[in-house]
Amino acid sequence: MILVAEGKRKWVVTSAWPYVNATPHLGTMIGSVLSADVFARYVRLKGDEVVFVSGSDVHGTPVAVEAKKQGIPPEELAMKNHEKTSQLFRQWKISFDNYTQTHNPTHIKFCQDFYLDVQRNGYVSEKEIESLYCEKDAMYLPDRFVEGQCPFCGAENARGDQCDKCQKLLTPLELIQPTCAICGSSPYIKKTKHWYLLFPKLQDRLKTFIEQNEIIPKNAKEMCLNSIAEGLPERAITRDLEWGIPAKFKGAEGKTIYVWFEAVLGYISAVKEWAEKIIKKPEKFEYFWKDSTTRTVYFIGKDNIIFHLIVFPGLIMAYNENKKGNEKLVLPYNVSSTEFLMYENDKFSKSRGVGIWIDEALELAPLDYWRFNLIYNRPEKSDTSFLWSEFENNIKLLNDVIGNFIHRTLTFINKQFKGKVPDIIELDDKDKQFLEQINSIGKTVGDLLERFELRSALREIVSFARIGNVYLNEKAPWHLIKEKKALAGQVFNICVQAVHALAILLSPFIPDTSQKILEFLNLETSLKNITWESISDKALKSGHPIKKAKPLFEKLDIEEMKKKLEIIRKGKKEMKEKPDLISYEKFKRLDIRVAKILEIEPVPKTKNLLKLTIDIGTEKRTLVAGLAQHYTPKELKNKQIVVLANLEPKKLRGIESQGMLLAAVDGEKVSILTPDKEIKVGARIE
Ligand SMILES: [Zn+2]
Ligand SMILES: [Zn+2]
Repeated sequence: MILVAEGKRKWVVTSAWPYVNATPHLGTMIGSVLSADVFARYVRLKGDEVVFVSGSDVHGTPVAVEAKKQGIPPEELAMKNHEKTSQLFRQWKISFDNYTQTHNPTHIKFCQDFYLDVQRNGYVSEKEIESLYCEKDAMYLPDRFVEGQCPFCGAENARGDQCDKCQKLLTPLELIQPTCAICGSSPYIKKTKHWYLLFPKLQDRLKTFIEQNEIIPKNAKEMCLNSIAEGLPERAITRDLEWGIPAKFKGAEGKTIYVWFEAVLGYISAVKEWAEKIIKKPEKFEYFWKDSTTRTVYFIGKDNIIFHLIVFPGLIMAYNENKKGNEKLVLPYNVSSTEFLMYENDKFSKSRGVGIWIDEALELAPLDYWRFNLIYNRPEKSDTSFLWSEFENNIKLLNDVIGNFIHRTLTFINKQFKGKVPDIIELDDKDKQFLEQINSIGKTVGDLLERFELRSALREIVSFARIGNVYLNEKAPWHLIKEKKALAGQVFNICVQAVHALAILLSPFIPDTSQKILEFLNLETSLKNITWESISDKALKSGHPIKKAKPLFEKLDIEEMKKKLEIIRKGKKEMKEKPDLISYEKFKRLDIRVAKILEIEPVPKTKNLLKLTIDIGTEKRTLVAGLAQHYTPKELKNKQIVVLANLEPKKLRGIESQGMLLAAVDGEKVSILTPDKEIKVGARIE
């Protein structure tokens, strides 16, 4: 189905919230964030009103477990990782209006209030259940905090949520001989109270919602209807974990709200936070979220479909009940889900080193090569693989098809027509045909994008550039130029309109390249001022001056890139394994030498400090050392010692100590280092 734009539309564009505990890899990128960015950029160019949000999901148990292990507060770990991910998304030019995280005050308050409304509307029930409790840590253990033997395959170190060996999903109570993952002691079963969301009460309405929505893809629809037919279970909203959003209602003290409940609400609260804190127009929150005509779109991986089409709308329905029309939150308009991206036909795996992570990618090639490649092979209908061979082909496409057409056109106008767009004289059928294609390409690509077929849209643009090359070759203006210069000029008038079209068409996909083309064309480059509708066969008037063009792309050596990736990996591994190694170069900067003690004086009002005057070969120095309880002045007099001579001077009890004497220390025992043989004072230690 084709959605025709009638006036401005309102969009809330979102991408799935990445867990904060890992750097995203290329699969995560195309599965959600990058796809959403292309769409958001497109609808902005269409002139629609758009807010594009997402954020880091920070309340997951892996964060809590990892923080306990590192002995730091989970918030500290989460914020550190969140910062890193945000930075990487900025480098990938993801045009978020707000990329936030789930531990921000707006979100916390929003979720707590949201819960109360859902409870007031009668969608929550209270239950007593059995859970594992660790006496030593004084806490109930959430699934990932429990380890034990797998009841299915007998593996020794299965986790409370899943066995890594046989992949079966588990609950902590199923584990044989469970132990606490933090302290290793045996937890016991203890009763605890939890609050559950009554999904069965929402089942019929969710079924109608799915059936009546004509936009969501067929496969997603089927998946949801099957899941509803099996019966939707009640789901626990609260859990006994300190890290998370406090459950602020009677009886739930000390409990937090489960991540499944709050993370999806981030789509709503992120817009609220944007309206209140970023653009400082709080009314824009209702303007987007509480208008039934707003289209909310979710870019997600296929494993997230149920979550976004059943769980999330279910929450919204439970919240909306008893509310007036303009107080209701809008239900999802569509999800755009992708199949999985593999890496050379294997699953991405950090531990096995299979895949490419988004920080590494940017060290290997310029951003647009990655953006282009990922969307060109977006796994829309089936799982696809990142293949180096395909990457190499796609780099060729950029160079030989798109780059070549644009470069030939602009260079020719610069050389032969003094950089001014030539005139149209008289058009033949070939010209007319290409002009028509320039006029219709915006709609063709736009329609594909509105159907969320990003991959086909990009391929259509490449075909268009290919048509441009064919047209140029058939017209052969380099021959025309000798006798019919004006006709040659006409060819380039037409081609430069196509170059302009390419700049706009490519903008959602490879924004850096698009920016460069617009600069060459001497046009406004600010995203705010370029529009999709400006694509036309008369976009540039004859006489319009253009600038000198440089090649847009370069050929990259795939083998070199692979080698570089290995080097990056090795560097990271070494840093991890030997964090405190210093190079010989650094060691050489330490000025350690043999010195001789000349005078010894006690430092007044201290028991252990001595003021030593020493000869370091080049000069005399004063040292303060804690030796009085270990050596007598007589033992020290004229002794050869070893000192670090280029240590920053430091005042101790009013005396400046100009270096440090080296000694071996074992608790109370102190032994001064001294050369094995008599040696010249000032000799270097190396
Ligand atoms: Zn198992
Ligand atoms: Zn414990």
